[in-house]
Amino acid sequence: MLRGTISYMTPTAKILSEKALPAFSTRWLLALPKLGVVLLLAALLALLWLLHLNEIEEERATLIKDVLWLEQNLRFHLDSDEEQLQQFAADMSNLATQKKTFRLRASHLVKNTPEIDQLMWLNPERKVIDALPSMTPPDAEIEAFGPPVTEKAFDTARRLGKQVYSEPFFLEKNRSFIETATPIFHEGHFIGMLVAVYPLDTMLANLVPWWFTEKYKVEIIDDNDILYATKTHVQGQSSQTYEIPFDPPGYGLKLRIGSYKSNDNPLQKLLTIAIIALAAGVFWSLWVVRDLMQKRSRAEEALRAEHAFRTAMEDSLTVGMRARDLKGRVIYVNPAFCKITGFSSQELVGSTPPMPYWAPEQIDESYAMHQAVLAGQAPVDGFEMTFMRKNGERFNALVYEAKLIDGNGVHTGWMASVLDVTERKRAEELARQQQEQLQFTSRLVTMGEMASTLAHELNQPLAAIASYNTGCLNLLERPDCTPQDIRPALEKVSIQAQRAGKIIRRVHDFVRKSEPKRAPCQLAEVVDDCLGFVESDARKRHVRIECAMPEMPPIPADRLMLEQVLLNLIRNAMEAMGNTPEIHRTLRIMIKLEDAELRVSVADQGCGIAPEIRDKLFTAFFTTKPEGMGVGLSICRSIIEFHRGRLWAEDNPNSATGTGTIFAFTLPLETA
Ligand code: ADP
Repeated sequence: MLRGTISYMTPTAKILSEKALPAFSTRWLLALPKLGVVLLLAALLALLWLLHLNEIEEERATLIKDVLWLEQNLRFHLDSDEEQLQQFAADMSNLATQKKTFRLRASHLVKNTPEIDQLMWLNPERKVIDALPSMTPPDAEIEAFGPPVTEKAFDTARRLGKQVYSEPFFLEKNRSFIETATPIFHEGHFIGMLVAVYPLDTMLANLVPWWFTEKYKVEIIDDNDILYATKTHVQGQSSQTYEIPFDPPGYGLKLRIGSYKSNDNPLQKLLTIAIIALAAGVFWSLWVVRDLMQKRSRAEEALRAEHAFRTAMEDSLTVGMRARDLKGRVIYVNPAFCKITGFSSQELVGSTPPMPYWAPEQIDESYAMHQAVLAGQAPVDGFEMTFMRKNGERFNALVYEAKLIDGNGVHTGWMASVLDVTERKRAEELARQQQEQLQFTSRLVTMGEMASTLAHELNQPLAAIASYNTGCLNLLERPDCTPQDIRPALEKVSIQAQRAGKIIRRVHDFVRKSEPKRAPCQLAEVVDDCLGFVESDARKRHVRIECAMPEMPPIPADRLMLEQVLLNLIRNAMEAMGNTPEIHRTLRIMIKLEDAELRVSVADQGCGIAPEIRDKLFTAFFTTKPEGMGVGLSICRSIIEFHRGRLWAEDNPNSATGTGTIFAFTLPLETA
């Protein structure tokens, strides 16, 4: 990239010109935040999971602690019951107060130990002596009180002489019970048995505190997973359970405690939801950012393509472009300008007058034009200047200056397009010289064609001079000849010699080679000269020439060129009337003075112009004549255009023969 171009580039273009990041690293850059968010999310979820595990662990620890406490509590109560029953049994050893003691102690015990449903006093034969609670006579009641104590427990207690727990058993409505059998001894003799009936559900209901059942489900089961009693205030599936042997009473009974998941911590729930929502939000925003990035990269791509296209366009321009700021400092040149001038953009950008490409001999003109451009007074349709290449070679440049307007509509400088027109000018000059040569040749041809008539015309004064000369000589031979006699003849000789001289000068003038130059000239004199030329030819062809000319101001023209035009038109007109009846062979030359121009017309009554050749008349080398060159009219048109006039052909509406042509041309009157 050229420095000049960079200095003129917008910031966006600069960014664009920098090497674009490879697509895969852009993808990586885009993926990194996503990866980060995924990792963060994973870490948060892992943390939540760990917290959850921790919570379960804590829950289990609490469960075990509570279970141990419950087991202790039950044991404590049962132990306390055991003590009381043993004391009771000891009190019952007194035979005299036995009955009374049972009633008193049993009612007290049943009342104060709600876990005991029933107390029975059995005789050594396992028959019920009394039982409480009972309002009816004991015997009658006894039958109603479930089965007596199991034989096994009874025997074991009797044999061991200490309190024994029975195996659990089911009774009415699937209620399960255990019993304790406490033997009563009197002086070493077994005299009866105290049996306490514990319904297991009542035991749980009374010994397990309410708060415990708010959290746990307490079950009494055996090894075979048979459920004997349960207590809970919570519904549903327990999350974890813990089993502990229920001893006493033993017999493989177990306490199974199931914990219920405490209602999830709302803060934790909220936190989880917040984390997920935030992660979703972050993902969504990443998605949006990705979308934006993609849009942006597409826009950048389009801009890059646009920039590349503009640069390619700029580089392929053959017209030199140069931008200057408002102070006249060069801020940009395109490659074509560098090529034309031979300077590099580094040498040109930043330069101030005098510019390196200004020709030293034209420094004043260049500076004046520079000032005019900065003042906004440069010619709109361009101007020509001579510039200098780096190698010192001069060249003609056609410069068009225009305002440089930036994207905000602010005038920031001047933009010039510069064309090297040296070659074009050279070609134009060559064409001009060739045209001139052609005109000259055409005049020579015309003169050649007119040579015989001119010779004839020249012959007349020469013959007259010869005869006057003979007359004079004859007079001189006479003795009485006085100079007065010779004088008139000599005067006539002189007139004829002048006439001959005029003819020769006119021919000389006509065929002389000269540069075209416009000078004030009288059109009437031009017409007179032409008539002088064609007079004898017209006579020979029996053509009458009529001429109507008003008073005219002189016009700026090249007299010789106009003569050539008129002579051409007159000769064409005379030739066109070759077949016209002699009586109608009239040629009219009319000059009219119009607003700002002269209108000259040459009208004939000749053959006229066929429509099919009308368009080709003014084309070089178009002729319908066997010996014609066909360059006359084309030369006439270029001469008239050189004088800023127009030349055209039209039918002659006033022709007596019905056919005929008018060739007309205009010439501006202004002196410019
Ligand atoms: P040239 O006279 O050598 O043919 P010009 O360029 O003068 O070349 O004329 C071109 C052609 O235009 C002539 O050949 C002729 O056909 C036609 N032409 C010119 N003047 C007239 C005229 N006054 N009437 C009819 N035809 C004309």
